[in-house]
Amino acid sequence: MAKVSDHIRKANGKTIFSIEVIPPIKGDNLKNLLDNIEPLMEFKPPFIDVTYHREEYIERLEPDGTIKKIITRKRPGTVGICSAIMHKFGVDPVPHVLCGGFTRDETEDFLIDLHYLGIDNVLVLRGDPAKPFDTFKPKTNGYAYASELVEQVANMNRGVYLHEGSHAMTPSDFCIGVAAYPEKHFEAVDHETDFTYLKLKIDKGADYIVTQMFFDNQKYFDFVKRCREAGITVPIIPGLKPLSTRKQLQVLPRLFHLEMPDDFIKAVEACENDGQARQVGIEWCVQQGRELVKAGVPGLHFYTMGKSDNIVKVAQEIF
Ligand code: FAD
Repeated sequence: MAKVSDHIRKANGKTIFSIEVIPPIKGDNLKNLLDNIEPLMEFKPPFIDVTYHREEYIERLEPDGTIKKIITRKRPGTVGICSAIMHKFGVDPVPHVLCGGFTRDETEDFLIDLHYLGIDNVLVLRGDPAKPFDTFKPKTNGYAYASELVEQVANMNRGVYLHEGSHAMTPSDFCIGVAAYPEKHFEAVDHETDFTYLKLKIDKGADYIVTQMFFDNQKYFDFVKRCREAGITVPIIPGLKPLSTRKQLQVLPRLFHLEMPDDFIKAVEACENDGQARQVGIEWCVQQGRELVKAGVPGLHFYTMGKSDNIVKVAQEIF
């Protein structure tokens, strides 16, 4: 299998198509997810990202009327899905690896499993706070920032593990991706601070960047320009998502801390039903994708969020 950075290099300036998928809710069938990926194979994604979902704290009402607090993971299975993707589609999976919910030793064990499976890529992230909390707290002996986790992966790539063994340690060979936010990470006080820490992730060993979704290409172009001025030279893959319901006009900005352009808001608000909004979402995304391809972006990375039919329609118009 190969690294994302090799896929970009081999494409030789041609824009790559890639997707991100989300593990099913615990207990659901994996087949539905794989069936959703299948139609997208037409566009030959060289890699597929699989998100990681940390533990959540929930309260459950017991038959005796008491409330029981439980810690659960609603969407486990990231590593298994990566393996299924490799075997079914022969495509490189990119598991997301989080700081949140992991100690450094647990991270090391996780990375060793990925290495043994022949997975050559990871997208390294801090993760969001565990629900229902609103501030991120690392585990004891865990990491507070993605840059620290990048350093651990980069160390393993040099054969430096957390605790020295009595024999030479086999280096891993992960290609490391990290996240970035053209509209700023919501916790960062300003763009400059956010840039400083993005640069730190690259300096610690990240090979490429994938952006948060955006609906205004100018935000991406400005962001890339500022990255280049700050000395960040790695590929910056734009993340896109076609809006699929009228409700997402409010939900996406709230969840992902982004702004929708006025023209787009007007077009969606004029829709009488979700079917029309979905069509507007597809057309907007096609327009965004075409302009980005024309600008020579290394890839278009689509957030499927459990559905692929609208992404098929977008990709048919672009690739
Ligand atoms: P970081 O790079 O650590 O940054 C977090 C914040 O801390 C930023 O405000 C940054 O400016 C600041 N900061 C960074 N370093 C320092 C420092 N040394 N000192 C002080 N401040 C600092 N979440 C999931 O739970 N699972 C997923 O699978 C997942 N996939 C994602 C994929 C993509 C492409 C993107 C864009 C996001 C994804 N997320 C996922 C969400 C992500 O975990 C959150 O956005 C999280 O809040 C930040 O993660 P990060 O890796 O960007 O954090």
